[in-house]
Amino acid sequence: MGIEVGAGRKAQVVVIPFPAQGHINPALAFAKCLASKGLLVAVVTTTSIAKSANFSDCTSLTLHTVSDGSEHVEGTETVEAYLKRFRCNFSRNLADFMDDHMSCARAIIYDSIMPWVLDIAKDRGLAGACFFTMSCGISAVFHHLGQGLLLRYPYEDDVAVSLPALPQLEKRDLPSFCHVVDPEQCAVKLLTDQFSNLERADWVFFNTFDNLETPVLEWMRRRWAITTIGPTFLLLGESKKHSISLFEPKADAYREWLESRDPNSVVYVSFGSMASLKKEQMAELGHALLATGYHFLWVVRSSELDKLPPDFASTAAGKGLVVEWCHQPEVLVHKAVACFVTHCGWNSTLEGLSHGVPLVAMAQWADQTMNAKLVADVWGAGARCGGRDGIVGREEIAKCIERVVGGDEIRRNALRWKEMAAEAVGKGGTSDLNVVDFVSKIAFDDGGDFSPTSVLV
Ligand code: UDP
Repeated sequence: MGIEVGAGRKAQVVVIPFPAQGHINPALAFAKCLASKGLLVAVVTTTSIAKSANFSDCTSLTLHTVSDGSEHVEGTETVEAYLKRFRCNFSRNLADFMDDHMSCARAIIYDSIMPWVLDIAKDRGLAGACFFTMSCGISAVFHHLGQGLLLRYPYEDDVAVSLPALPQLEKRDLPSFCHVVDPEQCAVKLLTDQFSNLERADWVFFNTFDNLETPVLEWMRRRWAITTIGPTFLLLGESKKHSISLFEPKADAYREWLESRDPNSVVYVSFGSMASLKKEQMAELGHALLATGYHFLWVVRSSELDKLPPDFASTAAGKGLVVEWCHQPEVLVHKAVACFVTHCGWNSTLEGLSHGVPLVAMAQWADQTMNAKLVADVWGAGARCGGRDGIVGREEIAKCIERVVGGDEIRRNALRWKEMAAEAVGKGGTSDLNVVDFVSKIAFDDGGDFSPTSVLV
């Protein structure tokens, strides 16, 4: 049953995730949460994503597909070519889809890296709600990058950057493309463009929670209609069913394997869905994992497997297990897991913190370096590995694992974040109230124009 908005109509919103692993699940979790509160929720994704992922657990939503033109692509294409094609095809097909099928919708919730969707919403008199799946802190950095504020800094190793409401950031904390500062570079443009029309968005959702990023959220709230709704993966309560994977675990053997381990005895290692480690780095990590006194569960995607040291799986037998993919939240919640060696993608960071699992941060690129800085120096929930020439050595990794697993203070801090994350999404928590407020505004709006000031509380 959807919420009645008069004349028997139900209030409907359209959710449009960006088609990548780290973006889809936060959007789907939010979509399901909105559906559980009575909205009719239509999710629109690309035809190719619908083919490669299993959406069978999304029965509370209606799933729709539009083409991004990928069926006409032969061979590989550059990221730049992909983004151009995606925008051109998807935006055109989405506009047609909205006209043909979504004339009753009240709002479009779209991923922040597709700011052009806002025009599709506004041209049809709909509210536009932008959804950031990265932290508020790194998003503020991207804003400053777009404003040219970072151009003044020389980017030498020992020069700290001061940005409003953020901790002092050193060169190693910032994404490498901040050092290059070519505004037309594909990644820079993609990330700075998130702010290109944000003042026209009626809501600006962040997959974060108030206590985690208080100062920068306050700073951002003075400028945009910032609304925290995270951690989204907790919005519907703990369940292995609330996410989809673009990768399938080849086997479920890791579940049994975990069950047979003692509490706090397993180092869980994963670098998310995109990071690609150098062969040398894989070797250092492999040695470190074999050297510690813990068992380990290491996710190595199939495309990375040939970088493992020769015979690694057999050398590690009895001590560690290598899997091509797993259901990460299910692993993190397991009592056997003592720490999480992570690339610090935002979802992984939030999932680790929300389960009270201490983190060993081995950031690779983009937002991960700043997330690693926050994890270690601001949230006190982990240790950050230092490397030389882009490689973290085996001793450093092993040292960080020992520090994190043996560190009472780090563990206490991690558990505090777990409590605060649960509070935020629990009844009456900040994220919960923000979701409820959004639902009531969508359901009971009289159909007039939405203005950002009307949603600021
Ligand atoms: N993930 C998973 N199984 C794995 C590895 C990762 O389910 O074996 C999920 C993880 O729970 C997270 C997402 O993949 O939700 C990765 O997102 P993140 O932002 O951490 O990194 P990205 O893949 O975007 O670099």
